[in-house]
Amino acid sequence: MQITTDKKKKALRQNYTATQNACKLCTPIGATLAFQGIEGCIPLLHGSQGCSTYMRRYLISHFKEPVDIASSNFTEETAIFGGGANLKSAIENVARQYLPSIIGIATTCLSETIGDDVPMIINSMQNCDNLPELVHVSTASYTGTHIDGFHNAIRAVVDRFNPESATLNNKDAQNKERDKTKSDKFGSGENISLNCFPGMLSNEDIRYLKEIFSLMGIKATILPDYCERLDGEPWIDYQVIQRGGTPISSIKKMYQANGSIELGRILAAKQDFNQNSGNSSQNLSAGELLAKRFGVKSLGVGLPIGVKETDRFFEALEQLTKKATPAIFLNERGRLIDAYVDCNKYLSQKRAIVYGEEDLVVGIASFLSEVGVVPVLCASGAKSGALKSVLQETLPQNIFEQIIIKDGVDFMEIEHEAKECDPDFLIGSSKGYATARRLDVPLVRVGFPIHDRVGGSRILHIGYRGAQRLIDEIVNTLLERRQERSNIGYSYM
Ligand code: SF4
Repeated sequence: MQITTDKKKKALRQNYTATQNACKLCTPIGATLAFQGIEGCIPLLHGSQGCSTYMRRYLISHFKEPVDIASSNFTEETAIFGGGANLKSAIENVARQYLPSIIGIATTCLSETIGDDVPMIINSMQNCDNLPELVHVSTASYTGTHIDGFHNAIRAVVDRFNPESATLNNKDAQNKERDKTKSDKFGSGENISLNCFPGMLSNEDIRYLKEIFSLMGIKATILPDYCERLDGEPWIDYQVIQRGGTPISSIKKMYQANGSIELGRILAAKQDFNQNSGNSSQNLSAGELLAKRFGVKSLGVGLPIGVKETDRFFEALEQLTKKATPAIFLNERGRLIDAYVDCNKYLSQKRAIVYGEEDLVVGIASFLSEVGVVPVLCASGAKSGALKSVLQETLPQNIFEQIIIKDGVDFMEIEHEAKECDPDFLIGSSKGYATARRLDVPLVRVGFPIHDRVGGSRILHIGYRGAQRLIDEIVNTLLERRQERSNIGYSYM
C-alpha cells in the first residue's frame, strides 16, 4: 500500500528523537544570569570554553551590555583525568584579574558527567589567601532548563550566606533588628524589611518592583538585581565589573527579614510537591529555605501579569507588611480596566499560542484570558509536571477547557500543534520567530531571549502598568497586520 505524503510526515514526526530548536535554554545560562545580579560577582563555568562563549553571546545579544563569564577551560586531558586543577587555577586567575567579592561557580554538562566533586575542590581552597567568597551550584543541562539553573543559583547563594549558624553567631544583631522592627511589624512605620525573589524578570520589571517597594516604604532585598549592571550608563573608564547588583551584606541579612515573597506559581507548586514528598532542603526554593531554617514567612504568588495576578501580588504585600497599596497603583489598575473595555472589540475570541518558561506561560495565559484572547496552545520546553494543574487553577474553567497544554516540547512540536490551532498570533521569545513566519502570523515578543529587536531587556511585563503595555502592543500588532493585508488601505481601524 502506498503511504501518502501526510502519512509519511506523521510517521516521521512520531519517530524522531532529536530536539529541533529547543523551547528552553541550557541550565547554567540561568545560573550565570542570576550571578550577574549579585554585586561584585563574576560567574565562572566549570567546563569547556564553548559553553561560556555560547552563554555570553546569548546574554549580550539580549541585554546589549558586556557580559563576562569565566571558564575553567576543559581540554581533552581534563575531560579524562578530571578538572580539579583547572578549576583551582581558574578561581585564582579570576580572583587576581577581576578582584570580585564573589565568584559564582556553575557546572556544565561535561564536568557533571565526569563527576568532578566541586564542593570538595572549593573546600580544599578555604585556606588560600586573597580569595573572594565562592558559591557553587550544580547545573547539569540534561536535568533541567535555564529556569532551574536560575532558581538553584539563588538558593545556593541564600544558603551560603544564611547558614543555620547565622542565628547563633548574630544573636545580638538579630535581636536588635527584630526590636527595631517590632513596633513597625504590621504597623505603619518604615522599617518593614522583605526579601523578594522575582525569578527571571526583565530589567524594567525589576525597576518596577523597586518603585513599588519604595512607594510602600518597604526595605526590600531583591535577589537577584541585575537591572543596573545589565542596563547601565555609558562608561568613561573601563569597568572590570559593572556597578549594581544585590550587595552581599544585604543577602547576609535575609534571615532577619519580616517575610519573603517569591514570584512564580510553578515554583510554588514544586515547593508543595517537595513538602508533601518530604524532599530535602536541596530542593527548597530560597524563600522556603529561609522559612524552614529561620521561620521567615514566605508567600509564593504567580508572576504579576494582568489584573488578577497583580491583585494577588499586592494582596500578598499587604498581608506581609500590613501596608496599603499606594493610590498610584490603584489608578494604574483603573486605567487598565478601561483599556480592557476599549480593546475588547479587537481581541474578543482571538486565538494565541503562548510558549516559553513555564511561569511566564502561566502569567501570560492568565492575562490573555482576562482580555478575551483564548491561549489555545500553552507550551514549554520545561517539564516540571505542574504546568497543567497550575494552568487549571489559574485560568477560568471555560478557557481552560479550550486549550491544549504541552510541556517538554521543542518548536517542531509546537509548530505541529499550532497548525491545528488556527492562531491569530504567537507570544513568547524571539526563538519562536521562525515558527511564526512559517505559520504566517505575527509574533509578540516577551521574556528571554529577544535577539531580533532592541529593548528586550526593557520590556515591562509585570504589574498593572506592564499589562497596559502588553495589551497596547498586542492590539497594535493585530491592527498592523490587518492594515498591511488590506488592499483598501484603511487609516481608521
Ligand atoms: S554542553 Fe551543556 S552546559 Fe555547555 S552549552 Fe551545551 S547544554 Fe549548555
